[in-house]
Amino acid sequence: MGSLIDHLVGFGEIWLATYVLVFGSYLVFGWAFTLWSRHHPERKIQERRDGQKRRNKEIRASARSLIVTCACFAGGLYLQLQGVTLFDPFALTWWSAPLMFLGSVFLFDTWFYWVHRLNHFGPFKKWHALHHQSVAPTVWSNYSDTFFDAFSQQSFFLFMPLIVPFPPAIFIAHRAFDHFNGMIGHSGIEFAAGKSSRSPWPLASVTFHDMHHSTYNYNYANHFSFWDRLMGTLHPDYDEKVVWMEKRIAAGARREDGDEVPSRSAV
Ligand SMILES: [Zn+2]
Ligand SMILES: [Zn+2]
Repeated sequence: MGSLIDHLVGFGEIWLATYVLVFGSYLVFGWAFTLWSRHHPERKIQERRDGQKRRNKEIRASARSLIVTCACFAGGLYLQLQGVTLFDPFALTWWSAPLMFLGSVFLFDTWFYWVHRLNHFGPFKKWHALHHQSVAPTVWSNYSDTFFDAFSQQSFFLFMPLIVPFPPAIFIAHRAFDHFNGMIGHSGIEFAAGKSSRSPWPLASVTFHDMHHSTYNYNYANHFSFWDRLMGTLHPDYDEKVVWMEKRIAAGARREDGDEVPSRSAV
């Protein structure tokens, strides 16, 4: 019984530390990002919608759902540190670390695509509806989820450390990357428009997940457009919209020379 309490305390410490770090950096980064993005209207993807109106609701929803998100991560890390794994973790070297990191990102993208499609199916839709109340997502929207949504997507970090032989540092680095990537990916502010984020390349720009929120039935994946292209769920206008964002951002960079930022019809 004593050892059960020790385990609960050990897990609880990691859970609490994770929650403080994730929610704290969510607030600080979200605030700094919002201030910065006000100076870049040319990067705003949905020009006519103001997603910031939902900020307080989304922060409250995130404070709740992060309880589950951080419990998944802390549970996976704690069990892995206790040696509750199918295999011994691979050694961490200068060449294996980036390969394992990419492997973890690819596995997560595959997990996310299929779980997310399930979230859009039949009885599961009602638990995913909260996330889709953010039609024009912002940096605050990433964790605006129900407990079910958070568990179905983030339990990757609970189960994978037990069955995939990547060391804890890889999952910690991946979760940190996913934290900021997810916030920026929901920001409604385009950063990644370029050749690598449209056909034939597999990377996804910010516009990719933004279109998932504005159109609902397309672009289910997270980091890459690969699964959506393969399964026929890529939004038919996605590649064209990335090109349009590239032109608009480039025109915005010239704005200081006196040019106006063009609207979509003008490009
Ligand atoms: Zn969705
Ligand atoms: Zn989303």
